[in-house]
Amino acid sequence: MTTAFSEALHLIRDTAERIAEQEIAPLAERVDLECLWPGHALDALAKAGLLGLQVPKALGGHGQGLLALSAVAEVIGRACPSSALCFGMHCVGTAVIAAKATKYQQEHYLRPIAQGRHVTTLALSESGNGAHFYLPQTALAVDGEHFRVNGTKRFVTNGGHADSYVVSTTIPGDAAESGDFSCLIVDRDTEDMTWLEAWSGFGMRGNSARGVQFDGARVPRHNLLGEQGDQVWYVFEVVAPYFLMAMAGTYLGIAQAALDAAGEHLRSRRYAHSGESLRDVEILQARYASMWMAVEKTRALIYDAGRRGDLGDPDALPFILACKAEAGDTAVYLANEAMTICGGAAYRENSHVARLLRDARASHVMSPTTDMLKVWTGRALLGLPLL
Ligand SMILES: Cc1cc2nc3c(=O)[nH]c(=O)nc-3n(C[C@H](O)[C@H](O)[C@H](O)COP(=O)(O)OP(=O)(O)OC[C@H]3O[C@@H](n4cnc5c(N)ncnc54)[C@H](O)[C@@H]3O)c2cc1C
Repeated sequence: MTTAFSEALHLIRDTAERIAEQEIAPLAERVDLECLWPGHALDALAKAGLLGLQVPKALGGHGQGLLALSAVAEVIGRACPSSALCFGMHCVGTAVIAAKATKYQQEHYLRPIAQGRHVTTLALSESGNGAHFYLPQTALAVDGEHFRVNGTKRFVTNGGHADSYVVSTTIPGDAAESGDFSCLIVDRDTEDMTWLEAWSGFGMRGNSARGVQFDGARVPRHNLLGEQGDQVWYVFEVVAPYFLMAMAGTYLGIAQAALDAAGEHLRSRRYAHSGESLRDVEILQARYASMWMAVEKTRALIYDAGRRGDLGDPDALPFILACKAEAGDTAVYLANEAMTICGGAAYRENSHVARLLRDARASHVMSPTTDMLKVWTGRALLGLPLL
Protein backbone atom coordinates (compact mmCIF):
# COMPACT_ATOMS: atom_id res chain seq x y z
CA MET A 1 0.00 0.00 0.00
CA THR A 2 1.18 3.49 -0.71
CA THR A 3 0.08 6.91 0.42
CA ALA A 4 0.74 8.14 -3.12
CA PHE A 5 -2.64 6.71 -4.24
CA SER A 6 -6.04 8.34 -3.96
CA GLU A 7 -8.89 6.27 -2.53
CA ALA A 8 -10.21 5.70 -6.08
CA LEU A 9 -6.82 4.50 -7.26
CA HIS A 10 -6.50 2.11 -4.30
CA LEU A 11 -9.80 0.53 -5.34
CA ILE A 12 -8.77 0.32 -8.99
CA ARG A 13 -5.41 -1.22 -8.13
CA ASP A 14 -7.00 -3.75 -5.75
CA THR A 15 -9.48 -4.79 -8.46
CA ALA A 16 -6.68 -5.17 -11.01
CA GLU A 17 -4.60 -7.17 -8.53
CA ARG A 18 -7.48 -9.56 -7.82
CA ILE A 19 -8.04 -10.12 -11.55
CA ALA A 20 -4.31 -10.54 -12.10
CA GLU A 21 -4.01 -13.20 -9.41
CA GLN A 22 -7.23 -15.09 -10.12
CA GLU A 23 -7.69 -14.83 -13.88
CA ILE A 24 -4.46 -13.68 -15.53
CA ALA A 25 -1.64 -15.48 -13.68
CA PRO A 26 -3.06 -19.01 -14.17
CA LEU A 27 -2.79 -18.68 -17.97
CA ALA A 28 0.57 -16.85 -18.12
CA GLU A 29 2.60 -19.96 -18.93
CA ARG A 30 0.25 -20.90 -21.78
CA VAL A 31 0.31 -17.34 -23.13
CA ASP A 32 4.10 -17.63 -23.44
CA LEU A 33 4.24 -21.20 -24.70
CA GLU A 34 1.56 -20.86 -27.38
CA CYS A 35 2.11 -17.16 -28.27
CA LEU A 36 -1.49 -16.79 -27.12
CA TRP A 37 -2.92 -13.28 -27.30
CA PRO A 38 -4.35 -12.74 -23.78
CA GLY A 39 -7.98 -12.07 -24.71
CA HIS A 40 -9.03 -13.63 -21.37
CA ALA A 41 -7.05 -10.92 -19.53
CA LEU A 42 -8.56 -8.06 -21.53
CA ASP A 43 -12.05 -9.57 -21.14
CA ALA A 44 -11.66 -9.78 -17.36
CA LEU A 45 -10.31 -6.22 -17.19
CA ALA A 46 -13.17 -5.07 -19.46
CA LYS A 47 -15.79 -6.69 -17.20
CA ALA A 48 -14.31 -4.85 -14.22
CA GLY A 49 -14.52 -1.54 -16.15
CA LEU A 50 -10.76 -1.16 -16.35
CA LEU A 51 -10.47 -0.75 -20.13
CA GLY A 52 -11.74 2.78 -19.50
CA LEU A 53 -8.91 3.70 -17.13
CA GLN A 54 -7.88 6.61 -19.37
CA VAL A 55 -11.36 7.57 -20.60
CA PRO A 56 -12.72 10.84 -19.09
CA LYS A 57 -15.33 10.38 -16.34
CA ALA A 58 -17.90 12.31 -18.40
CA LEU A 59 -17.76 9.48 -20.95
CA GLY A 60 -18.09 6.70 -18.40
CA GLY A 61 -14.41 6.06 -17.72
CA HIS A 62 -12.17 6.45 -14.68
CA GLY A 63 -10.45 9.64 -15.89
CA GLN A 64 -7.17 8.41 -14.42
CA GLY A 65 -3.71 9.52 -15.49
CA LEU A 66 -0.10 8.38 -15.50
CA LEU A 67 0.23 7.14 -11.91
CA ALA A 68 -2.80 4.87 -12.25
CA LEU A 69 -1.57 3.47 -15.55
CA SER A 70 1.81 2.50 -14.08
CA ALA A 71 0.19 1.04 -10.93
CA VAL A 72 -2.28 -1.13 -12.85
CA ALA A 73 0.34 -2.22 -15.42
CA GLU A 74 2.58 -3.24 -12.51
CA VAL A 75 0.11 -5.64 -10.92
CA ILE A 76 -0.78 -7.17 -14.29
CA GLY A 77 2.90 -7.37 -15.28
CA ARG A 78 3.69 -9.25 -12.09
CA ALA A 79 1.18 -11.92 -13.16
CA CYS A 80 1.69 -11.97 -16.95
CA PRO A 81 3.96 -9.46 -18.73
CA SER A 82 2.35 -10.00 -22.15
CA SER A 83 -1.06 -9.15 -20.68
CA ALA A 84 0.36 -5.97 -19.14
CA LEU A 85 1.87 -4.95 -22.45
CA CYS A 86 -1.40 -5.55 -24.32
CA PHE A 87 -3.39 -3.67 -21.68
CA GLY A 88 -0.80 -0.89 -21.55
CA MET A 89 -0.81 -0.28 -25.31
CA HIS A 90 -4.61 -0.20 -25.23
CA CYS A 91 -4.43 2.50 -22.55
CA VAL A 92 -1.83 4.52 -24.46
CA GLY A 93 -4.00 4.37 -27.58
CA THR A 94 -6.99 5.43 -25.49
CA ALA A 95 -5.11 8.40 -24.03
CA VAL A 96 -4.05 9.50 -27.53
CA ILE A 97 -7.67 9.33 -28.77
CA ALA A 98 -8.96 11.11 -25.63
CA ALA A 99 -6.45 13.96 -25.80
CA LYS A 100 -8.34 15.95 -28.45
CA ALA A 101 -11.33 13.72 -29.26
CA THR A 102 -14.11 15.15 -31.40
CA LYS A 103 -17.74 14.44 -30.48
CA TYR A 104 -17.76 11.61 -33.05
CA GLN A 105 -14.57 10.09 -31.64
CA GLN A 106 -15.92 10.35 -28.10
CA GLU A 107 -19.11 8.47 -28.95
CA HIS A 108 -17.59 6.03 -31.44
CA TYR A 109 -14.44 5.06 -29.55
CA LEU A 110 -14.18 6.38 -26.00
CA ARG A 111 -17.64 5.43 -24.73
CA PRO A 112 -17.35 1.84 -26.06
CA ILE A 113 -13.87 1.60 -24.50
CA ALA A 114 -15.29 2.69 -21.14
CA GLN A 115 -18.05 0.10 -21.53
CA GLY A 116 -15.44 -2.62 -22.14
CA ARG A 117 -16.59 -3.16 -25.72
CA HIS A 118 -13.60 -1.81 -27.61
CA VAL A 119 -9.83 -2.46 -27.53
CA THR A 120 -7.46 -0.05 -29.25
CA THR A 121 -3.69 0.08 -29.65
CA LEU A 122 -0.80 2.06 -31.11
CA ALA A 123 0.77 1.39 -34.53
CA LEU A 124 3.76 3.71 -34.90
CA SER A 125 6.81 1.57 -35.66
CA GLU A 126 8.05 0.99 -39.19
CA SER A 127 10.99 -0.82 -40.68
CA GLY A 128 12.30 2.37 -42.31
CA ASN A 129 12.53 4.45 -39.13
CA GLY A 130 13.36 1.71 -36.59
CA ALA A 131 13.67 3.07 -33.07
CA HIS A 132 12.83 6.58 -34.36
CA PHE A 133 9.07 6.03 -34.25
CA TYR A 134 8.32 9.77 -34.47
CA LEU A 135 9.40 9.92 -38.16
CA PRO A 136 6.77 7.84 -39.99
CA GLN A 137 6.98 7.17 -43.72
CA THR A 138 3.51 5.65 -44.05
CA ALA A 139 1.83 8.02 -46.51
CA LEU A 140 -1.51 9.79 -46.14
CA ALA A 141 -3.37 11.24 -49.14
CA VAL A 142 -6.72 13.05 -49.30
CA ASP A 143 -9.43 11.34 -51.36
CA GLY A 144 -12.68 13.34 -51.11
CA GLU A 145 -14.23 12.69 -47.69
CA HIS A 146 -11.62 10.02 -47.00
CA PHE A 147 -7.91 9.54 -46.61
CA ARG A 148 -5.89 6.85 -48.35
CA VAL A 149 -3.16 5.19 -46.28
CA ASN A 150 -0.14 3.48 -47.87
CA GLY A 151 2.70 1.87 -45.97
CA THR A 152 3.65 -0.88 -43.55
CA LYS A 153 3.66 -0.80 -39.75
CA ARG A 154 5.35 -3.48 -37.68
CA PHE A 155 5.43 -4.63 -34.07
CA VAL A 156 1.76 -3.63 -33.56
CA THR A 157 0.90 -4.93 -30.08
CA ASN A 158 -2.63 -6.42 -30.06
CA GLY A 159 -2.20 -6.70 -33.84
CA GLY A 160 -5.18 -8.35 -35.54
CA HIS A 161 -7.15 -8.44 -32.26
CA ALA A 162 -7.76 -4.79 -31.39
CA ASP A 163 -10.90 -3.10 -32.70
CA SER A 164 -8.99 0.02 -33.77
CA TYR A 165 -5.42 1.17 -34.40
CA VAL A 166 -3.91 4.61 -33.77
CA VAL A 167 -1.65 4.93 -36.81
CA SER A 168 0.97 7.61 -37.52
CA THR A 169 1.46 8.81 -41.10
CA THR A 170 2.99 11.68 -43.03
CA ILE A 171 0.75 14.70 -43.52
CA PRO A 172 -1.10 14.80 -46.86
CA GLY A 173 0.99 16.12 -49.73
CA ASP A 174 4.11 16.43 -47.58
CA ALA A 175 7.48 14.74 -47.93
CA ALA A 176 8.31 12.15 -45.28
CA GLU A 177 11.57 13.98 -44.51
CA SER A 178 9.78 17.08 -43.17
CA GLY A 179 9.31 15.43 -39.76
CA ASP A 180 5.63 16.40 -39.65
CA PHE A 181 3.08 13.65 -39.27
CA SER A 182 -0.56 12.90 -38.61
CA CYS A 183 -2.28 10.37 -36.37
CA LEU A 184 -5.54 8.73 -37.28
CA ILE A 185 -7.75 5.90 -36.07
CA VAL A 186 -8.03 2.92 -38.41
CA ASP A 187 -10.83 0.43 -37.72
CA ARG A 188 -10.03 -3.27 -37.74
CA ASP A 189 -12.37 -4.13 -40.64
CA THR A 190 -10.87 -1.52 -42.99
CA GLU A 191 -10.38 -2.83 -46.51
CA ASP A 192 -6.91 -3.00 -48.11
CA MET A 193 -5.32 -3.59 -44.72
CA THR A 194 -3.43 -6.91 -44.49
CA TRP A 195 -1.96 -8.48 -41.37
CA LEU A 196 1.50 -9.96 -41.84
CA GLU A 197 3.04 -13.04 -40.23
CA ALA A 198 2.09 -14.10 -36.70
CA TRP A 199 4.26 -12.85 -33.83
CA SER A 200 6.72 -15.28 -32.31
CA GLY A 201 9.01 -13.25 -30.06
CA PHE A 202 11.95 -14.14 -27.82
CA GLY A 203 9.80 -12.79 -24.99
CA MET A 204 6.48 -10.99 -24.63
CA ARG A 205 5.19 -13.83 -26.73
CA GLY A 206 1.47 -13.25 -26.14
CA ASN A 207 1.76 -9.78 -27.53
CA SER A 208 0.64 -10.39 -31.10
CA ALA A 209 3.10 -7.67 -32.18
CA ARG A 210 2.42 -8.23 -35.89
CA GLY A 211 3.08 -6.14 -38.93
CA VAL A 212 0.27 -4.66 -41.01
CA GLN A 213 0.29 -3.40 -44.57
CA PHE A 214 -1.93 -0.61 -45.88
CA ASP A 215 -2.46 -0.58 -49.65
CA GLY A 216 -4.49 2.56 -50.22
CA ALA A 217 -6.69 1.76 -47.19
CA ARG A 218 -9.66 4.17 -47.05
CA VAL A 219 -10.15 5.93 -43.70
CA PRO A 220 -12.89 8.55 -43.07
CA ARG A 221 -11.52 12.04 -42.55
CA HIS A 222 -13.31 12.31 -39.19
CA ASN A 223 -10.87 9.68 -37.88
CA LEU A 224 -7.99 12.18 -37.94
CA LEU A 225 -6.77 12.98 -34.43
CA GLY A 226 -6.25 16.63 -33.58
CA GLU A 227 -5.19 19.14 -36.17
CA GLN A 228 -2.31 19.32 -38.56
CA GLY A 229 0.65 20.71 -36.67
CA ASP A 230 -0.33 18.94 -33.44
CA GLN A 231 2.11 16.07 -33.90
CA VAL A 232 4.91 17.28 -31.67
CA TRP A 233 2.35 18.09 -28.99
CA TYR A 234 0.93 14.54 -29.27
CA VAL A 235 4.33 12.85 -29.11
CA PHE A 236 5.64 14.73 -26.08
CA GLU A 237 2.42 15.43 -24.17
CA VAL A 238 0.54 12.18 -24.70
CA VAL A 239 2.26 9.30 -26.54
CA ALA A 240 5.59 9.49 -24.71
CA PRO A 241 4.37 10.01 -21.12
CA TYR A 242 1.58 7.41 -21.31
CA PHE A 243 3.75 4.88 -23.13
CA LEU A 244 6.67 5.36 -20.76
CA MET A 245 4.52 5.01 -17.64
CA ALA A 246 2.69 1.95 -18.99
CA MET A 247 5.98 0.26 -19.83
CA ALA A 248 7.66 1.34 -16.58
CA GLY A 249 4.82 -0.30 -14.65
CA THR A 250 4.98 -3.45 -16.78
CA TYR A 251 8.74 -3.91 -16.25
CA LEU A 252 8.44 -3.09 -12.55
CA GLY A 253 5.87 -5.92 -12.38
CA ILE A 254 8.43 -8.28 -13.94
CA ALA A 255 11.05 -7.18 -11.42
CA GLN A 256 8.62 -7.76 -8.55
CA ALA A 257 7.75 -11.23 -9.89
CA ALA A 258 11.47 -12.08 -10.04
CA LEU A 259 11.89 -10.88 -6.44
CA ASP A 260 8.90 -13.02 -5.41
CA ALA A 261 10.40 -16.08 -7.11
CA ALA A 262 13.83 -15.56 -5.51
CA GLY A 263 12.31 -15.02 -2.04
CA GLU A 264 10.17 -18.13 -2.35
CA HIS A 265 13.13 -20.28 -3.37
CA LEU A 266 15.35 -18.89 -0.60
CA ARG A 267 12.69 -19.62 2.02
CA SER A 268 11.70 -23.08 0.81
CA ARG A 269 14.99 -24.68 -0.32
CA ARG A 270 16.63 -26.81 2.38
CA TYR A 271 19.53 -29.27 1.98
CA ALA A 272 18.96 -32.85 3.09
CA HIS A 273 22.65 -33.47 3.93
CA SER A 274 23.06 -30.53 6.32
CA GLY A 275 19.55 -29.31 7.06
CA GLU A 276 20.77 -25.82 6.07
CA SER A 277 18.21 -23.52 4.45
CA LEU A 278 19.26 -21.40 1.46
CA ARG A 279 18.09 -18.28 3.26
CA ASP A 280 20.83 -18.82 5.87
CA VAL A 281 23.57 -18.29 3.27
CA GLU A 282 25.01 -14.82 3.86
CA ILE A 283 25.93 -13.98 0.27
CA LEU A 284 22.39 -14.84 -0.85
CA GLN A 285 20.93 -12.64 1.88
CA ALA A 286 23.01 -9.75 0.52
CA ARG A 287 22.03 -10.48 -3.09
CA TYR A 288 18.37 -10.64 -2.12
CA ALA A 289 18.64 -7.34 -0.23
CA SER A 290 20.18 -5.65 -3.29
CA MET A 291 17.34 -6.96 -5.43
CA TRP A 292 14.74 -5.62 -3.01
CA MET A 293 16.48 -2.23 -2.86
CA ALA A 294 16.48 -1.98 -6.67
CA VAL A 295 12.75 -2.75 -6.84
CA GLU A 296 11.85 -0.26 -4.12
CA LYS A 297 13.99 2.52 -5.63
CA THR A 298 12.49 1.92 -9.06
CA ARG A 299 8.94 1.89 -7.70
CA ALA A 300 9.56 5.16 -5.83
CA LEU A 301 10.89 6.80 -9.02
CA ILE A 302 7.94 5.55 -11.10
CA TYR A 303 5.28 6.67 -8.63
CA ASP A 304 7.00 10.04 -8.23
CA ALA A 305 7.17 10.46 -12.02
CA GLY A 306 3.48 9.53 -12.39
CA ARG A 307 2.41 11.90 -9.65
CA ARG A 308 4.48 14.77 -11.04
CA GLY A 309 3.13 14.14 -14.54
CA ASP A 310 -0.48 14.09 -13.31
CA LEU A 311 0.04 17.33 -11.40
CA GLY A 312 1.57 19.04 -14.44
CA ASP A 313 4.84 19.66 -12.58
CA PRO A 314 7.11 21.58 -15.01
CA ASP A 315 10.07 19.49 -13.74
CA ALA A 316 8.37 16.13 -14.43
CA LEU A 317 10.08 15.40 -17.76
CA PRO A 318 13.39 13.82 -16.61
CA PHE A 319 11.50 11.70 -14.06
CA ILE A 320 9.12 10.37 -16.73
CA LEU A 321 11.92 9.74 -19.24
CA ALA A 322 14.09 8.00 -16.65
CA CYS A 323 11.50 5.66 -15.22
CA LYS A 324 11.12 3.29 -18.21
CA ALA A 325 14.92 3.09 -18.57
CA GLU A 326 15.25 2.41 -14.85
CA ALA A 327 12.43 -0.16 -14.84
CA GLY A 328 13.99 -1.96 -17.83
CA ASP A 329 17.39 -2.14 -16.17
CA THR A 330 15.81 -3.29 -12.89
CA ALA A 331 13.69 -5.96 -14.57
CA VAL A 332 16.68 -7.45 -16.42
CA TYR A 333 18.86 -7.28 -13.29
CA LEU A 334 16.19 -8.85 -11.07
CA ALA A 335 15.32 -11.65 -13.51
CA ASN A 336 19.02 -12.38 -13.99
CA GLU A 337 19.65 -12.48 -10.23
CA ALA A 338 16.57 -14.65 -9.69
CA MET A 339 18.00 -17.05 -12.27
CA THR A 340 21.18 -17.33 -10.17
CA ILE A 341 19.39 -17.64 -6.82
CA CYS A 342 16.81 -20.16 -7.99
CA GLY A 343 19.55 -22.36 -9.47
CA GLY A 344 18.95 -25.36 -11.69
CA ALA A 345 15.20 -25.30 -11.07
CA ALA A 346 15.07 -21.94 -12.86
CA TYR A 347 17.50 -22.88 -15.61
CA ARG A 348 15.15 -25.26 -17.32
CA GLU A 349 13.37 -24.44 -20.54
CA ASN A 350 10.43 -22.08 -19.99
CA SER A 351 10.66 -21.99 -16.19
CA HIS A 352 8.86 -19.01 -14.65
CA VAL A 353 12.15 -17.18 -14.11
CA ALA A 354 13.33 -17.98 -17.65
CA ARG A 355 10.13 -16.44 -19.01
CA LEU A 356 10.63 -13.34 -16.85
CA LEU A 357 14.19 -12.95 -18.16
CA ARG A 358 13.03 -13.21 -21.77
CA ASP A 359 10.15 -10.80 -21.19
CA ALA A 360 12.39 -8.31 -19.37
CA ARG A 361 14.75 -8.10 -22.35
CA ALA A 362 12.03 -6.49 -24.50
CA SER A 363 12.45 -3.32 -22.44
CA HIS A 364 15.75 -2.39 -24.06
CA VAL A 365 14.52 -2.66 -27.66
CA MET A 366 11.08 -1.10 -27.28
CA SER A 367 11.42 2.48 -28.42
CA PRO A 368 12.21 4.90 -26.82
CA THR A 369 14.91 2.38 -25.89
CA THR A 370 16.90 2.44 -22.65
CA ASP A 371 19.89 4.14 -24.27
CA MET A 372 17.73 6.76 -25.99
CA LEU A 373 15.93 7.51 -22.73
CA LYS A 374 19.16 7.95 -20.81
CA VAL A 375 20.41 10.38 -23.47
CA TRP A 376 17.10 12.27 -23.40
CA THR A 377 17.07 12.40 -19.58
CA GLY A 378 20.58 13.86 -19.61
CA ARG A 379 19.59 16.40 -22.24
CA ALA A 380 16.47 17.40 -20.28
CA LEU A 381 18.52 17.85 -17.11
CA LEU A 382 21.10 19.93 -18.98
CA GLY A 383 18.49 22.20 -20.54
CA LEU A 384 19.02 20.87 -24.08
CA PRO A 385 16.21 19.99 -26.54
CA LEU A 386 15.51 16.23 -26.49
CA LEU A 387 16.05 15.71 -30.24
C1 LIG B 1 7.56 -6.81 -27.77
C2 LIG B 1 7.50 -5.58 -28.59
C3 LIG B 1 6.31 -4.87 -28.68
C4 LIG B 1 6.23 -3.71 -29.44
N1 LIG B 1 5.04 -3.05 -29.53
C5 LIG B 1 4.92 -1.96 -30.33
C6 LIG B 1 3.66 -1.31 -30.50
O1 LIG B 1 2.65 -1.71 -29.91
N2 LIG B 1 3.58 -0.26 -31.34
C7 LIG B 1 4.67 0.20 -32.01
O2 LIG B 1 4.54 1.16 -32.75
N3 LIG B 1 5.88 -0.38 -31.87
C8 LIG B 1 6.04 -1.46 -31.05
N4 LIG B 1 7.25 -2.08 -30.91
C9 LIG B 1 8.41 -1.58 -31.66
C10 LIG B 1 9.50 -0.91 -30.80
O3 LIG B 1 8.98 0.12 -30.03
C11 LIG B 1 10.67 -0.37 -31.61
O4 LIG B 1 10.27 0.64 -32.48
C12 LIG B 1 11.33 -1.38 -32.40
O5 LIG B 1 11.57 -2.52 -31.63
C13 LIG B 1 12.68 -0.82 -32.91
O6 LIG B 1 13.25 -1.85 -33.61
P1 LIG B 1 14.50 -1.77 -34.61
O7 LIG B 1 15.02 -3.13 -34.52
O8 LIG B 1 14.14 -1.26 -35.94
O9 LIG B 1 15.51 -0.78 -33.94
P2 LIG B 1 16.72 -0.08 -34.64
O10 LIG B 1 16.29 1.28 -35.09
O11 LIG B 1 17.37 -0.98 -35.64
O12 LIG B 1 17.69 0.11 -33.39
C14 LIG B 1 18.55 -0.95 -32.93
C15 LIG B 1 19.17 -0.53 -31.62
O13 LIG B 1 19.92 0.67 -31.83
C16 LIG B 1 19.63 1.59 -30.81
N5 LIG B 1 19.49 2.97 -31.33
C17 LIG B 1 19.02 3.38 -32.51
N6 LIG B 1 19.08 4.72 -32.60
C18 LIG B 1 19.59 5.16 -31.43
C19 LIG B 1 19.88 6.45 -30.90
N7 LIG B 1 19.68 7.56 -31.60
N8 LIG B 1 20.38 6.52 -29.65
C20 LIG B 1 20.62 5.41 -28.93
N9 LIG B 1 20.38 4.16 -29.39
C21 LIG B 1 19.86 4.05 -30.62
C22 LIG B 1 18.31 1.21 -30.20
O14 LIG B 1 18.44 1.35 -28.80
C23 LIG B 1 18.11 -0.25 -30.57
O15 LIG B 1 18.33 -1.03 -29.42
C24 LIG B 1 7.38 -3.23 -30.14
C25 LIG B 1 8.59 -3.96 -30.04
C26 LIG B 1 8.65 -5.11 -29.29
C27 LIG B 1 9.96 -5.85 -29.20
